[in-house]
Amino acid sequence: MGVMDAISAEQKSGASAARTNEPSAEPEEAAALDRPIQFLKGVGPARAKALEELGIVTCRDLLDYLPRDYERFEGHRSIGQLAPGELAAVEGEIIQTRIMRRRPMRFEALLDDGSGRCILVWFNRWGLEDQIQPGVRIRASGKIGLFQGRPQIVQPKFDLVEAAQDAPPPTARINAVYGGTARLASAVIARIIAEWLEPLCSEVDEWFAEPWLQERKLLTRRQAYQQSHQPRSLPQAYQARRTLAYHEFFLYQLVIGLKRYHLKHLLTAKPLRVDDEVDRRIRRLLHFGLTHAQEKVIAQIKADISQPRPMNRLLQGDVGCGKTVVALFAMLMAVASGGQAVLLAPTELLAEQHYLTLGRYLAGSRVQIGLLAGSVVAAERARVLAGIQDGSMGLVVGTHAVLGEHVAFKNLWLLVVDEQHKFGVRQRGSIRERHAGVHTLVMTATPIPRTLAMTYFGDLDVSIIDELPPGRSPIVTRSINQALRPKAYEFLVKELNRGRQAYIVAPAIEENIQELASVESLATELRAAWLAQHAIGVIHGRMDKAQRQALMEAFRAGEVRVLIATSVIEVGIDVPNATVMIVEHAERFGLSQLHQLRGRVGRGDQQSYCVLIADEDAGAGEKNPRLAAMVKTSSGFVIAEEDLKIRGMGEIVGTRQSGRPDFHLPELLFDEALLSLSRQDALALVQRDPHLISPESRVLRQAMRRQYGDMLWLADVG
Ligand code: ADP
Ligand code: MG
Repeated sequence: MGVMDAISAEQKSGASAARTNEPSAEPEEAAALDRPIQFLKGVGPARAKALEELGIVTCRDLLDYLPRDYERFEGHRSIGQLAPGELAAVEGEIIQTRIMRRRPMRFEALLDDGSGRCILVWFNRWGLEDQIQPGVRIRASGKIGLFQGRPQIVQPKFDLVEAAQDAPPPTARINAVYGGTARLASAVIARIIAEWLEPLCSEVDEWFAEPWLQERKLLTRRQAYQQSHQPRSLPQAYQARRTLAYHEFFLYQLVIGLKRYHLKHLLTAKPLRVDDEVDRRIRRLLHFGLTHAQEKVIAQIKADISQPRPMNRLLQGDVGCGKTVVALFAMLMAVASGGQAVLLAPTELLAEQHYLTLGRYLAGSRVQIGLLAGSVVAAERARVLAGIQDGSMGLVVGTHAVLGEHVAFKNLWLLVVDEQHKFGVRQRGSIRERHAGVHTLVMTATPIPRTLAMTYFGDLDVSIIDELPPGRSPIVTRSINQALRPKAYEFLVKELNRGRQAYIVAPAIEENIQELASVESLATELRAAWLAQHAIGVIHGRMDKAQRQALMEAFRAGEVRVLIATSVIEVGIDVPNATVMIVEHAERFGLSQLHQLRGRVGRGDQQSYCVLIADEDAGAGEKNPRLAAMVKTSSGFVIAEEDLKIRGMGEIVGTRQSGRPDFHLPELLFDEALLSLSRQDALALVQRDPHLISPESRVLRQAMRRQYGDMLWLADVG
């Protein structure tokens, strides 16, 4: 049963007057603003079609089509005062013209207003020379450029003026710039919106009382729409957009907050044993003390899983900070309580690695652990499946593909999802849907920027490990270009001779055959040139599991000193003696990928190094923002923020596929204070009025259903 089904079921039995699907009682904004725009006067079917290409179908869409940018129009200026780059109008007498008839045809006029001269240039405007002649007075406006030290306007708008009956010269204003198409210019959109702005704004309903908005330095919704489209100043435009963003975030946080509230109150989960005896038994398996950050998170997890309600927690932390240990701790609490726990990994390789790692921790215990991945042979698979079904297999590690399907657990009480930024939100949603009453811990090795966490992962409680295990010194990172490549390998050999181990990573190429060729040829080159004395292993995605595991074990045991790999080693390997990571063609990797790779070293107490080799023309160091970020910081949180800036929100979240909303004001998704405020306010409302039955909440309920109707009926999100 979906969460919202459950909510509505509850509402039926309880406050039935407050049921959310009672259309007759709703206010009217929907009806008015949901009219198709083609019924607006002046917007015929043809224009409506052109607008539809921009996603504008209803009146509401038109209101929500916010300017892409604003430009300040300075109004009338004397030519002597013009500054390049500004938008302004000038007025004066034409003193000279010139026409060049080649393609494109170019017509130039020199305008003099007594304070200076300005060049006006038009392309392909046949017949202009008849209108604009020496001696004529015109007013021209446009963006001021500079040509040979003199102001110039290309393609200016212009009017002829008869000095006597002049309209007053234009004054300064802000122009809204809309994203247009080939068929629909920004100016046309601006005109349509300008014409309808007032009547449409008057249909907009207000969600909050004015004093409440004022306290937050926000406008009303009507004012905000009005001033987003037609601001009198840039600060005013900003305030208006901030207001709209606040409302938008609020609504989204409200949906999420309601879901969480009802999940907590309707779904039950097995309360797990977190007592001292269990705690002691688990700690005996670890051969180190936990960091403060790990202790803090374990305490949070204990508080969650000891409740009869499902945990929904996101565990963030840098590579190597000890998340896996924390997950193991949680899983062992499930096992100690008589249940089973699952760790889901995004790739086969990572599942194998987790399986081996956890197996080592469990060496001195009776806990049974099994691996379920595509590569597991039939007999072993049957054994694991049997253990899963009869409950004797306490811990199971597997890939999503295998475990997601028809595996029936006897007592599945804890689900750990190692996300590594690779699972789609949808996919995760479907796992959790199937196990709605199971405590869930999601781990991400790429920290999610706070702003992103609040919006796209707002339905999870967040735990953060912001501390590395003791004795780690920061990894020294250098970005060099190809010319310095030999230096990197000289350095590598020195480290190897001191007894250390190393990784060399080359980019994976689309087709596997080539991928193989690229690492093989790299290995051949290095064997001949630098690493003749050292045992090299080559690892790639096409290897079968047994070979791969044997090689990893050999590397771990120190028999293999250098591991050459494609980015398949991105995650999961943990060899403290490895101190050098060389990345070839580093310019081809994404920022968070590079950060993951770097995290393979610096896992012991020796100083570690990461060398990023980039192609000349891609720019090493400063010129490439990703490589520069890598050199500048080792903090995963800073890296994540940088990544967000470089790649943009959509790319990271993949909003379209993820089922998350597209916000109208993506730039404000970076405004942490605003996000926090809207989230806080929304959650406070959930506490106050979890069924949205108060009269003030009615309009919100309506807006929520309008915007997130489909999401409300999803069994689970996130
Ligand atoms: P993550 O999963 O966050 O990448 P891991 O849990 O794999 O990190 O831990 C990285 C390495 O640090 C492992 O070798 C692990 O055994 C070790 N480690 C984890 N926690 C501690 C600790 N508190 N003290 C010392 N070593 C630790
Ligand atoms: Mg890990």
